[in-house]
Amino acid sequence: MNIFKNTGLNNELLRAVTTLGFEKPTPIQEKIIPEILNSSRDIIGLAQTGTGKTAGFGLPLIQKINIEDRSVQSLILCPTRELCMQITEDINNYAQFTGGLSVLAVYGGANISPQIQSLRKGTHIVVGTPGRTLDLIRRNILKVNRISWLILDEADEMLNMGFKEDLNAILETTPSEKQTLLFSATMPADVRRIAENYMKQPLEITAGKKNTGADNVEHHYYVVKASDRYAALKRIADINPMIYGIVFCRTRNETKDVADKLIQDGYNADALHGELSQAQRDHVMQRFRKRTLQLLIATDVAARGIDVNELTHIINYNLPDDPEVYLHRSGRTGRAGKSGISITISHSREGRRIRELENLIGKKFLHKMIPGGREICKKRLFNLIDKVENVEVDESKIESFMPAIYKKLEWLGREELIKHFVSVEFNRFLEYYKNAPNLNIVPDKTASEKRKRNGNTDYANIYINIGSKKGMNPSNLIGLINEAMGKRDIPIGKIDVQRNFSFFEIDRTYDQKLLEVFDRAVYEDQAVVVEIKNGQVKSSSGKRKTHTNGNGNYRSGTRTRKRIKR
Ligand code: ADP
Ligand code: MG
Repeated sequence: MNIFKNTGLNNELLRAVTTLGFEKPTPIQEKIIPEILNSSRDIIGLAQTGTGKTAGFGLPLIQKINIEDRSVQSLILCPTRELCMQITEDINNYAQFTGGLSVLAVYGGANISPQIQSLRKGTHIVVGTPGRTLDLIRRNILKVNRISWLILDEADEMLNMGFKEDLNAILETTPSEKQTLLFSATMPADVRRIAENYMKQPLEITAGKKNTGADNVEHHYYVVKASDRYAALKRIADINPMIYGIVFCRTRNETKDVADKLIQDGYNADALHGELSQAQRDHVMQRFRKRTLQLLIATDVAARGIDVNELTHIINYNLPDDPEVYLHRSGRTGRAGKSGISITISHSREGRRIRELENLIGKKFLHKMIPGGREICKKRLFNLIDKVENVEVDESKIESFMPAIYKKLEWLGREELIKHFVSVEFNRFLEYYKNAPNLNIVPDKTASEKRKRNGNTDYANIYINIGSKKGMNPSNLIGLINEAMGKRDIPIGKIDVQRNFSFFEIDRTYDQKLLEVFDRAVYEDQAVVVEIKNGQVKSSSGKRKTHTNGNGNYRSGTRTRKRIKR
């Protein structure tokens, strides 16, 4: 039996909940559903987004509504049209076995006449944005002076969006005898004031830490030059072929700009910003919901109330000024038990702000490296091969075309044929990434940090396909690394030169860059192949060669030193 039963919901609602696949109540639902069913006390519900607040108030509300009476019994106010529609849809789902319940969404940016007509027919629950709701109240079409339940959903967002006056005006016309439920992710002074003015000794229910990001969201950041932001975004999209997410930009212009470029570059992306007409917005949202669009590029305002689950990524094209905004953004992924990644493309001076966010969220941000061309091409290639391998082949449908196709491709052998198929899809990436530069900025360390690191360097172990047979020795190898990296002070650890290949250690901070710079390197007419290996460099004997440095000299036979200092 579904453990929602303990909350006191009736059979019709329990059936709906089971149909929707909810197995057990979320923490806030567990607390709030019995409270609404059994008392008429005002409640403040504080919980981050994605904790199931809609069902928390929606289910018990449906149970308490008197279906016989078709006058407006409950008003639900929320910040955006998107959210109005979402809540209305959710309530209809919850009431699918209840029968006779009517719920109506009213919001601005849409023709008011149909909304007026529907209201005249009578409805039990109205879900509205503050502006349009007040308009309908003033026209005397919507009467809220007899409601029994008032719900303020995402109260902090409503106030952020400048609905304070409208909210006060609406609240003034509601009866004093009613149950008021206020939901908010945060509790700023403005929200507190509304609660003080319009609620009676509210019971405060919190679920989880009210001000933190979801547990199943990972926070990653990349450090690039401001001018490389777009290139970095593309690589992030390329290395995640199944990405489904929102890219947050600061301004409308930036939103348009990024979206236009992505579309031109062949990505499934589009923009959502305040300049679009309502019909355009709806169209974009519909495509995003259906996953025809993989990337939605949006401003914070335009993205408010977008309630799409299963987003794999949130991308902060810039860090927002307000840390709370970061929380809202990242809270749009990792919902309903799914995991998600919130990515920030930052520049080198934003380290302190990342630390601030870490403190606020109570979680480490992972510094990631923008992948290099080779890595991306490999990932896309295997993604493609995977698709080819797993695609469903409908023999009956393609049968009639196959003889002609076989005939046309007859001259190609199996391997050739595979190469051709791969190239069709792949040439775009190969070409684009042919000479792709490294976009990562390795932050300059302060002198003291440098010293600290030198004493305790975290090394990556690198394999290189060149050994003594080709004349390689440690000093040549160091020279080769310095030349390729364009730097002479990179900590290099143990070096182990074998006949046909060698191993060496390099400060892990530089390993990705190393892979990139060696990508197309040639040594004595041989293409260089380098790979990161786990584990330590093996030394062939106790009397391993050691390198002190300098200017390309090395001494052998001395006692092993930990690393080469140069
Ligand atoms: P909030 O309003 O707190 O941000 P929502 O009410 O929009 O969150 O719910 C987030 C998602 O979780 C929705 O997709 C909803 O269908 C789902 N959900 C809600 N309650 C449950 C539950 N008990 N079990 C599983 N999923 C749930
Ligand atoms: Mg909600």
